[in-house]
Order: sequence, then structure tokens, then C-alpha cells
Amino acid sequence: MKKVSIIVPCYNEGKMIELFYTEATKITNKIENYEFEYILVNDGSKDNTLQTIRELSRKNNDIKYYSFSRNFGKEAAILAGLRNSEGDYAVLMDADLQHPPRLIVDMLEKIEEGYDSVATKRVDRHGESKFRSLFSKLFFKFLNKISDIPIIEGATDFRMMSRQMINSVLELSEYHRFSKGIFEWVGYDTYWLEYISEDRVLGETKWSYLGLFKYAIEGIVSFSTTPLRISSIIGGVISVLSFLYFVLTFLQTIIYGKDLPGYASTICLITFLGGIQLVAIGIIGEYLARTYIQVKGRPNYIIKETNKQNED
Ligand code: UDP
Ligand code: MG
Repeated sequence: MKKVSIIVPCYNEGKMIELFYTEATKITNKIENYEFEYILVNDGSKDNTLQTIRELSRKNNDIKYYSFSRNFGKEAAILAGLRNSEGDYAVLMDADLQHPPRLIVDMLEKIEEGYDSVATKRVDRHGESKFRSLFSKLFFKFLNKISDIPIIEGATDFRMMSRQMINSVLELSEYHRFSKGIFEWVGYDTYWLEYISEDRVLGETKWSYLGLFKYAIEGIVSFSTTPLRISSIIGGVISVLSFLYFVLTFLQTIIYGKDLPGYASTICLITFLGGIQLVAIGIIGEYLARTYIQVKGRPNYIIKETNKQNED
């Protein structure tokens, strides 16, 4: 019998987690010929998530949980889940039921047809502010322009993967993990399921605008070095322009003699160039900072507690 690991990152989901498990098992209990394991990763929640998970796992032996020593972020939780999954397939799912469990049935069907992965994309960003969906639209457009790998608009983290693909994903050892990019980077055949997105059932989203902005920068810097090239190009263009301006001024002085005015234009140029230089240094800094963190080789997360017995 094939085994499916359902990986659920949980951060302050105390209100949701039991409801999630009830709803998800309603679906998975009906699926025959597969065994399911639930891997709940408590990402340093500050509410009663851990207690709820502990109790739930005592009553249901298909639940394994891992609890972090602090909040390490959803990407770290996904990584921990994948590393500790034993299934032939793994499904990544949010705890807030925005990822409808009924789709697992379709996912299994497609993956048995021979796909390595079945991913989902939202067609209607229901329950999200206009500003946020515009922001995300622009982000995907921009990202695809400058990135070497395609990133599908509306793609969510809700996806099923084969063991082979999971192993490939785990081979990528970067500290700053941008899963949406990683899943594309490893390749393999992916089938895209579309679904209408639903509102979060309980609790609230963990994403602030600042958080989303940081995530967007992560997506760009993790999968593209184009920003570095853009700053070189801008530098080149400005150098050529200033050389032409130099030639022009030189000739003007020779032909028409000395010319005093030019205070305003000098200030404009100094501030303009200063600004561009700082932006360019900032861009280099983004890459350098990531290199620095990567070189330190710190673990992506620390597990403080788990109910998994040591088998060896
Ligand atoms: N999550 C997490 N760590 C974090 C933030 C979120 O594990 O630091 C989990 C959260 O519990 C949920 C999933 O990631 O299961 C998606 O979070 P959320 O619903 O807040 O994101 P949204 O659906 O608004 O994009
Ligand atoms: Mg959500």
C-alpha cells in the first residue's frame, strides 16, 4: 500500500488545527488503497497550537508532529516536513483550509497517471484586498521577466510530489528557501489543477504587507542575478552619457570661453548619481548578505519536541 505524507506548517493555528484534521481526514479516510500520515510542524506558535497538536496526536496515531524552538518561517516548516516524510508521495497544505482537502483525490489520480507533481493555482483571489491581488499580479509579472525559471501566477504551495521529486528538492541546500522557485527549478512534469480560492476559515493571515514585500525580494534574489546586471548596465549608460557631456562642455569652453552658471545642474547630478550608487550597493548587499548567511551553514530550523520514536 502506498503511503501519502500530508505536511502542514502551523503557526498560531490553535483555533484551526483540530478543524483542519477533521476536515482533511473526512476526505482521506474515504480514499482506499492509500495510507495517510499527517506531519504537523509547529513553527514556534505563541498560542495553544502545540498543546492542541499534542492532544490530537495522542488520540490519532496517524499524526506525527515536530515542534520548532522558535518561529523559523513557513519555508523552514515545509523543509522539516519534507525531510521527515516517509510517504511515496507528499502533499504540502496550509492549516487554514484555504487549500481544499478534496483536491487530494484529483492529485492522486493525476500523479498515478505518471506526473511527478500535481500543483495548484488559484483562479480567483477571493477574500483578498484589491491592492493585494494587484501587488501579487505585478510581482509575478516582474519576477518572470527577470528570472531564469518560470513562476506560474497564482501558484500556491499546495502540491503533491513524488518521492523522486522530494529527494531532488531536499538536495537543494540553500538557507533562503523560496519554494515556488525551487519546485520549478528541479524540473519534472507538473500537472496544474485550478481551484477557486476560499476564505481562511478561522484565525488570521500571518502576512503583513512588509512580510509580502520581503517575500517578493526573496523570490527575486533567490532565483535571479539580473538585478546585479541591471546595475552594471545603468552604470555603463551613465558613464557613456557623462563622457559625452564632458566632451560637450570641453568644446563649449574652447569655442565660447568660460561659463560660470551650473550650480543647480551640479547638485542634481551629484544627488542623482549618489542615489544610483547607493541602490547598486544595496543590490550587491542583498546578494552578499545571503552568501554570508549561507556560508555560516546554520541549520534552517531547530526541533525542540517531536512524538516520533527513534527507530534506530
Ligand atoms: N505559517 C508558518 N509559519 C509562519 C507563517 C505561516 O508555518 O511563520 C503557516 C500557517 O500556519 C499556515 C500557512 O503557513 O498553515 C499559510 O499561512 P497563512 O494562511 O497565514 O498565509 P496566506 O494563506 O494568507 O498566504
Ligand atoms: Mg492562508
